[in-house]
This record gives sequence, structure tokens and C-alpha cells, in this order.
Amino acid sequence: KRRPLVAGNWKMNGSVELAKQMIDTLDSSNIQNVDVLVCPPFPFLSEFNGFSGSVGAQNLSEFNAGAHTGEVSATMLKSLKCDFVLVGHSERRTDNGESDALVAKKVSVALEQGLTPILCVGEPEAVRESGEFFNHIQAQIDAVVDQIGIAKFDNIVVAYEPVWAIGTGKTASPLQAQQVHEFIRQYLAELDAEVAQGLRILYGGSVKAANANELFSQPDVDGGLIGGASLEPQEFLNICLAAK
Ligand code: 13P
Repeated sequence: KRRPLVAGNWKMNGSVELAKQMIDTLDSSNIQNVDVLVCPPFPFLSEFNGFSGSVGAQNLSEFNAGAHTGEVSATMLKSLKCDFVLVGHSERRTDNGESDALVAKKVSVALEQGLTPILCVGEPEAVRESGEFFNHIQAQIDAVVDQIGIAKFDNIVVAYEPVWAIGTGKTASPLQAQQVHEFIRQYLAELDAEVAQGLRILYGGSVKAANANELFSQPDVDGGLIGGASLEPQEFLNICLAAK
């Protein structure tokens, strides 16, 4: 059985104060059998020193060092005690033009430095409506398989986030989520059944405490990647508790 992971993606929100409140709420709750992760903006990462859960970044540079103004390297994230890093979030793909190839490179760089990348995939609304969403997701995954090989999927997490469900209040139904998660696992199982079986696949897109349980109880849904609801400590805690 895969151990569930619930990750909060603060996006460009939050504060030092929120970091303190989040740590207080989560540390005093003694959550069992669920891995809890918070991904705040870079300036707040060091606030999470001593946090009982894990801390991760929302992005990293594909370079290790050098003349890349405004970028943050995997080594820097490691030095701030990050264990995880989101890679290829749909907002970065859209706002920052991150291609499948760049995302694959970033996954590789994260792994080289001992960070666990959370590879984000998911189709925009038009692709969902066209019915081509399995192909879309397969292409996003293929780029990473080509770059790192299937064996290294042992050390990554995949997050399925349908773009039409992000920040819209329109959650994928548990069945829609399960369908895609199962597709991803079966697709990877053709390459390596054992790796695919152990891979954690998170669902993201308008997850709240009220719908978390139903989503997380799907057989191939191993937790969640939470945006808006991860900014409210009690709500986020309740989502974490729904995963066990
Ligand atoms: P929401 O939970 O706000 O829909 O965001 C999901 C997301 O993009 C997490 O990475």
C-alpha cells in the first residue's frame, strides 16, 4: 500500500505569519500515516525549519549555478532543507512557457540534487472537451520518461491537475480523477510494473475538506496537491486527515 501524501501549494500567497500559524496547527495535530508537505513561496521556505512535516519549493532552475538572474537552484533548495519541489505546474507551463522538454530537464536536475520532484501534468479544458486528454497527459509523461528513464520514477511523485479544475471550484469527479490516475499507472506499468505500483499519484484541482475523502478513497489516488484550501491551516489539516 502506498503511503498518502498531501501537499499544499501556496502559489504566490502567504506570509511569515501564515507560515507560523500553519506550523502550529499541523505540529499540534499528530497526523498519522500521511506525509504532509507545504510548498510556500521561496522567501518563506526557511520559516519551516523544525516543522514536523516536509517543505518543498514550487519551482527550480534547470541550471546549477551562474548568470541566471532571478532563478533558484536545486542545491539552494537542499540547503534550505527542502525535500520536494513542484515541477511543471500548469501555471508555470502557461505563464512562463515551460515546455515538456524543460519540465523534463528540471525533473532530472532535481533528482541529481536529491530532491523529490512532483511532476505536474493535466489537460486544459479544450483538450478535455475534445476527448484527447489521455494523449495530452501521455505526451507530458513521455518527455520525462525519455529524459530520466522509468527506473527513476521510483523517486518522483506525479500530480494530476486538470487545468479546468484549478482554482475554479469545479473539481474532477472522483471517477474522472480515478480514470486518469489509473491510465497513468497502467501506462507506466507497461515499462516497469513494480515502479508503477509504488508511484504516488496525487490529485489537484479545487480539493477541499468537503470533497477530499471521496477523491482520496479512489484506488489510484494517493493524496492531493492543494492550492487555495492550503492557505487555511484548519482546512488544510482536515484535508490531510482525510487522506489516512
Ligand atoms: P486549487 O486547489 O486552488 O484549485 O489549486 C490546485 C493547484 O493548482 C495546486 O497546485
